[in-house]
Amino acid sequence: MVKVNKTTKKDFAIFKKAVLFWQEYFGLKDWEFVIVHEDNESISEVRAWCGYDVKGKIATIGLATEWDKDDRSENQLKKSAFHEVCEVLMCPLWAIGMPHDSEKWHFEAAVHGIIRTLENTVFSASLCRCKGE
Ligand SMILES: [Zn+2]
Repeated sequence: MVKVNKTTKKDFAIFKKAVLFWQEYFGLKDWEFVIVHEDNESISEVRAWCGYDVKGKIATIGLATEWDKDDRSENQLKKSAFHEVCEVLMCPLWAIGMPHDSEKWHFEAAVHGIIRTLENTVFSASLCRCKGE
């Protein structure tokens, strides 16, 4: 039996508020954030995702409608929001140095290494006390 672990409207409210909190925190004022509660067909098996229009400066951040694990806690929702905002923070790196396919893996690993450090420092300092609606 497939375990269904759908994200709720309340989850989305928590997620959305956290995205806006971290956008403000990092001063990402040159981006327009579009926050959606839907899946991204090209990125599967993720809790949340982020897509950007670098030229138009529009970042779309999505909360997946279903999670594959039972850890859909408030903290995990906020952490996922934090992660995606960090992706936007790192986005200029992709714009200036789009690596060749063979190097993409290393580039992504480096970006995620930095994001993991931020998760374990900035996020863990529990600055995000925002609550969902
Ligand atoms: Zn990521």
